[in-house]
Amino acid sequence: MTIAIIGGRIGGITTAIALGRLGYTIHLFEQAKQFSEIGAGVALGPKSIALDDHAIVFADGTFNSSVESLRKMGLFEAYEKVADITEPDALCLQFTKDDGQVFGKWFFKATHKGRGSSVHRARLLEALLKLLPDNVTAHFSSHVNVVENIYPTDGSNLHVRLTIQPPHAEMHPEWPGEQRIFDASIAVGKHVRYTGTYAYRGLLDITKAVEKNGEGVRVPTMWFGKDKHVLTFLIEGGKIVNLVAFVSDRSQGPDERTWTGPWVKLVSYQQMFEDFKGWDQNVINLSQLIEKPEQWALHELVPLRRWTVDRITLLGDSAHASLPHNGAGAGQATEDAYVLASLLALPSCTEDTIPHFLQVYEDVRRPRASGQQIHACESGDVYEFATPMKDNNHALAENLKVRYDWIWEHDLEEDIDDAKRKLKDMGIEV
Ligand SMILES: Cc1cc2nc3c(=O)[nH]c(=O)nc-3n(C[C@H](O)[C@H](O)[C@H](O)COP(=O)(O)OP(=O)(O)OC[C@H]3O[C@@H](n4cnc5c(N)ncnc54)[C@H](O)[C@@H]3O)c2cc1C
Repeated sequence: MTIAIIGGRIGGITTAIALGRLGYTIHLFEQAKQFSEIGAGVALGPKSIALDDHAIVFADGTFNSSVESLRKMGLFEAYEKVADITEPDALCLQFTKDDGQVFGKWFFKATHKGRGSSVHRARLLEALLKLLPDNVTAHFSSHVNVVENIYPTDGSNLHVRLTIQPPHAEMHPEWPGEQRIFDASIAVGKHVRYTGTYAYRGLLDITKAVEKNGEGVRVPTMWFGKDKHVLTFLIEGGKIVNLVAFVSDRSQGPDERTWTGPWVKLVSYQQMFEDFKGWDQNVINLSQLIEKPEQWALHELVPLRRWTVDRITLLGDSAHASLPHNGAGAGQATEDAYVLASLLALPSCTEDTIPHFLQVYEDVRRPRASGQQIHACESGDVYEFATPMKDNNHALAENLKVRYDWIWEHDLEEDIDDAKRKLKDMGIEV
């Protein structure tokens, strides 16, 4: 069977590797001229947390479900080589406030076997690309405009048609007698909205960052503040500090928020400093190291009611782009890839049955991924004092203790079993 994948970053590439290894013929369409990632870090989160004495510690176990999904797809070795993985007992994330006070005694601290990890996106992509099997063919400069299910009237095979700009050979131009009886393209574009939050991002040289703020800069830190928050963590073997600083405007309702101009805008240092006026000097110091201050307008997908139409489905950000406040978007994409590949590995997955397989993939993945979209938005509200807890230390700490459990403690095998049960109910052998 031939499978088309649109998009060649973490979601598309992990899926291409996993499905390619199963023996499917894969055509991967990427609108860019080559594979590339943005210059920024990505954290794949810790295992869940539990209270122990006065510190918050990782629960027993190794990695969270997203990193586990990489392991199960045979991609962990590649990830491990390029990721910064915390040691047991390492301080993994400390929470502080915009005035620089670490609130209360609440720290996230790894004292068990649990691990947090982070990675430079480009390094991860490079590592994954080396694992692309030969049966994956990449097509660059190929912007896919429309994806349709085609239901031929002459008895020839059902198939999917991609309309690609610039004009590109169709995947199966030999199929005759097409009649489009149902436009199955999923109009994702209609559901994209500006979140009201923009971010400044920077990759800072550790030596300069230590000169400015001392050794404490090596500890991943999140500053909370009114309508703003800032996160730093290390990547590239501790040589680079990844900084993201968020600024939100909640004066309008979620559907009324608008952003004009390009989604990434170059701004002056003055404008950036204005946003963080009066903040902890450590934040100001680090922001001075940002080479090119840019505002990234963060957009999200409104949780979609469906991802699948017959032979077409969505995964990664095309299915569930969210605010990044749980550090979970990329992890959700690798979870999609793992669940999809686990189902498409079943011998009963054929050209006739594949719509059922895609549907049960959606049935088990969509509730979790949509939940993450909503939860990420709420996490931003927590960090930016926009909940009834406001900036109450105790309430915030109690919330943070359990906040991410459901994301990181998830059992993907249960999802796969659930999907198999659904297939069985449809009369498909599993
Ligand atoms: C500020 C910020 C911080 C983040 N931090 C984290 C974090 O710490 N942890 C985490 O897990 N996640 C994080 N995320 C989320 C994470 O970056 C995304 O969820 C993840 O990168 C999505 O991967 P993807 O492959 O699905 O999509 P993308 O990375 O968007 O890749 C899509 C690819 O498809 C191509 N493409 C798009 N449309 C077409 C088309 N029509 N035709 C052909 N090609 C097309 C694009 O060129 C691109 O290469 C963060 C996001 C932001 C904005």
